[in-house]
Amino acid sequence: MAIKSKNFCIVLSSPSGAGKTSISKQIIKQDKSIALSISCTTRPKRRGEYNKKDYIFLTDQKFNLGIKQNDYLEYASVFGYRYGTLKQTINSFFKKKKDVLFDIDWQGYQQLKQSNLEVIGIFILPPSKKELVKRLKTRARDTNKEMKKRMKLVENEISHFPEYDYVVINENLKKCVNQIVNIIESERLKKHRLVDLTKFVNKFRS
Ligand code: 5GP
Repeated sequence: MAIKSKNFCIVLSSPSGAGKTSISKQIIKQDKSIALSISCTTRPKRRGEYNKKDYIFLTDQKFNLGIKQNDYLEYASVFGYRYGTLKQTINSFFKKKKDVLFDIDWQGYQQLKQSNLEVIGIFILPPSKKELVKRLKTRARDTNKEMKKRMKLVENEISHFPEYDYVVINENLKKCVNQIVNIIESERLKKHRLVDLTKFVNKFRS
């Protein structure tokens, strides 16, 4: 008989260009009991992105209405646009007994840590500054101006790594994904998360 683990939140944060989006997609492919939280954003849709699949794309007005209605679990401004996680998204995943993976920045992570949810923070670093610059350039999804702005912010984002529970270096996608899946597996075995553990152990008493 398997002992069930209480569901929790896993936050992945990193500077842009560390490969977080590919990592998140691989994780949910490998572990079917993890669901990826889809955020709301006011930033324009990029080529190849779809509404409700990559983000819920909202106007400023709609986003503000959500704030007024207290719909967000957390929200923040990143690169001049607003990003936020809807409470409803998380509740529906927990109802389905899924752990929830968040691709959000350090501001959102801090807000989640202060909530009453169980949150594990994993910070992803690129293998080197040279590699980071290369990845940012080859991505070419953003304009030059946007890229320069993001490079400036990378340093600030990296300065938040000490607030996280784990740091993983993404030198190789497969290795990095495996390390994160292993972290999640271990976290599921923490005894305070195991549902009815005492009841289970008591069965061994004579
Ligand atoms: P991008 O525009 O490149 O998809 O994301 C920019 C940054 O916003 C990334 O660091 C991403 O993790 C962060 N982000 C995405 N969704 C959310 C969210 O719901 N809340 C917060 N706080 N940050 C988010």
